[in-house]
Amino acid sequence: MMNQDKIGAFISERRKAKGWTQSQLAEKLGVTDKAVSKWETGRSMPDLSLFMPLCVLLEITLNELFAGECISEQNLKEKADEVLMSVIASWLGQEKQVSTAQSAVAKTVLDVQNVSKRYQTKANAVLAVNNVSFQIPHGSFVGIMGASGSGKTTLLNIIATIDKPTSGKISIGGQSIVDMPENEAADFRRGHLGFVFQEYNLLDTLTLYENIALAMTIKNVPAKHVAQTILEISEALGITAILDKFPHEVSGGQRQRCACARALVVNPELILADEPTGALDSHAARQLLGTFSMMCRDYHATILMVTHDVVAASHCDRILFMRDGELKATLNRDAKSKQTFFADILKKMEWIEGESYDVLETVNP
Ligand code: ADP
Ligand code: MG
Repeated sequence: MMNQDKIGAFISERRKAKGWTQSQLAEKLGVTDKAVSKWETGRSMPDLSLFMPLCVLLEITLNELFAGECISEQNLKEKADEVLMSVIASWLGQEKQVSTAQSAVAKTVLDVQNVSKRYQTKANAVLAVNNVSFQIPHGSFVGIMGASGSGKTTLLNIIATIDKPTSGKISIGGQSIVDMPENEAADFRRGHLGFVFQEYNLLDTLTLYENIALAMTIKNVPAKHVAQTILEISEALGITAILDKFPHEVSGGQRQRCACARALVVNPELILADEPTGALDSHAARQLLGTFSMMCRDYHATILMVTHDVVAASHCDRILFMRDGELKATLNRDAKSKQTFFADILKKMEWIEGESYDVLETVNP
């Protein structure tokens, strides 16, 4: 297991080898002297966002930092696995197995069958999505992972009725969406889908409350239900205190949670999220992911989220892995703990990408 005292002593040793005082190291990292002193005496661990800069400054690898010692080539592999599990535990918290597996009879919300999308440019043709099929049951939180360019956004946009597939069928809540004319599709999006996109803008001239209320008004929710529903959901999402603020007055994480509230209040069949944590710091990202899990558990929302962040993906019930437009594998969390699922996702990515996946890159892409 990860040993905080040992790591602290190692940081201290490497710092001294560099000839730096605690204050000098603190200054390079933009933290207080006290923080460095606490790490070195094993009283606390550096924040996730500092791991990389710390490793660079001390000229050590991430694995060495967590092992609390320099690692030779031979025992690198063994150490790496051992260290990985404890790193994962420290990121995700110690969490027990999840007890309730998805009910086997949950109805299918999204049904994607043999969907392909070909982009034809002057120079060449790209098969951005290649014969992809899958189903998503009601109440589940599903992630789509894959390297940049693997077709994730294209697939999500097709499901969102923003883009049309070249071939294949898709139904949402039993309704076929691929042949819908644009005006019908716009109504369908408002009535049946919720969006939490990285750059999904709230309206700047409306307060957060008004942004959420607008979504409900468009859906003809009776006025007397609006206030009560917004308050209830805002409470659950922890944004009650900022409802009167304008989007530019709150943080990115708070805006994203407002977007979640706006998606939830209209009770859509399916919520779509494209890299929702991409622009957030690690704390805000964790909060947003906790919010998604809560939305599925307490509000029976069904969420499909595109991400390339393994930490984000480990909150899902199931992961779909894409490569070169194809669905290469799926992984179910089942009753596994978040940590075990995280490790499984990393292994699967290594297998799919055919190369060793650096833990750090997945956290700090
Ligand atoms: P991801 O979201 O996984 O990064 P995308 O779905 O954005 O992947 O892109 C998949 C492939 O399709 C890439 O090769 C990309 O260059 C191509 N592509 C995406 N959109 C278009 C477009 N509008 N026109 C032409 N090619 C596109
Ligand atoms: Mg994308």
